[in-house]
Amino acid sequence: MRFSSLVEACSEAVSIRYNNKVYELQRQGHDVTVLSLGEAFFDLPLFPFDALPQEKIYHYSHSRGILELRQILARTYAQKYQVPVDPASELLVTAGSKAAIYMTFMTILDRDDEVLIPEPAWVSYPEQVKLCGARPIGVPYWIDTFRLEEFVTPRTRAIVINTPHNPTGRVYSAAELEYLLDLARRRDLWLLCDEAYSEFAADDSFVSLGRLDSRKQHSILFNSISKNHGISGWRIGYVIAAPEVINRILKINQHFITCPPTILCHYVARYYDRILAITRPQIRAVVEKRRRVLQHMDALGLSYLPGDATFYVFASIAPSALGSEAFCTRLLEERLVSAVPGIGYGASCDRFIRISVGTASMEKLRRGLETIKALITETAAAGRAHAA
Ligand code: PMP
Repeated sequence: MRFSSLVEACSEAVSIRYNNKVYELQRQGHDVTVLSLGEAFFDLPLFPFDALPQEKIYHYSHSRGILELRQILARTYAQKYQVPVDPASELLVTAGSKAAIYMTFMTILDRDDEVLIPEPAWVSYPEQVKLCGARPIGVPYWIDTFRLEEFVTPRTRAIVINTPHNPTGRVYSAAELEYLLDLARRRDLWLLCDEAYSEFAADDSFVSLGRLDSRKQHSILFNSISKNHGISGWRIGYVIAAPEVINRILKINQHFITCPPTILCHYVARYYDRILAITRPQIRAVVEKRRRVLQHMDALGLSYLPGDATFYVFASIAPSALGSEAFCTRLLEERLVSAVPGIGYGASCDRFIRISVGTASMEKLRRGLETIKALITETAAAGRAHAA
């Protein structure tokens, strides 16, 4: 049997692979300290489905997403992030922002084009680029944003950034975004900006790229209800771009998913403000919890890459002698603490693991961090003894 070489070259999502192991251990009755999940759990009520338009909810709907939802999302971007968005032509709703990002890569990339991806990078960007037959170029984490031009070649077609950032929690400054936009204009590149965690900034520090490029000449924005509204499983995400970009993504959307789930779009449109009113204080609480986790890490002598947003921390495992996969496997199998190996976030990141503070209690987090610290110390000693 033969398979597509593009799919054969594509790796599994390491975060999802580890979470599947967690689900299996939990099914066997183990009490796992889960620091690996890519979401924060919120208390959310279920509003009545009866109030939704019954004649519409069972059927296909507009393949840009229902207009009511597009209007609400466009209004949010205008009011909260000062980005003017035309809901009729500049916004398309898809089955999760993951699909939006993939369809955008399909729209802008040809075979062998290069896409610059600063590391650590969300696990799906490089694999999606590869699935398009193009080349992800990981930029090591120690390279400053203002040096990105050194990596641009005649084949570079796009740069992908993520702010607030999974997994470090850093927020790109307006100066960095201005620099990147200027670079995109000068070298004729697309600048893709994944804003899936836009509500998770510690203060008003988050600046949408769209605010600096209101005509959307070079920028393409992604967002979703997964993180900001705590409804990851409903698979509703969106892309904001110039009409000529959206019209092309729309063709793929029509052949790929037809439309996002109609009933869920009606639900989110109908209850949007109420959902936000419930999730915003919980988002503030999780960002505050992250701050306390960092204090605990400082006290334990655990270091991490800088950032103060989201619910992730990208923690260093140096001086452990283990690579991040071996480290996370031992952490999970021997000590029932799950974290995601840094190697999934780029070749430069094998001395790190991603910790999520979104689901575990503070007590469990403290114990989990102490377990991580202990494993680092033990494996550092073992590594030195072995080497000697
Ligand atoms: N971007 C980033 C940076 C993410 O972390 C995730 C989910 N983990 C996504 C996009 C995809 O989110 P969704 O498809 O649920 O909208």
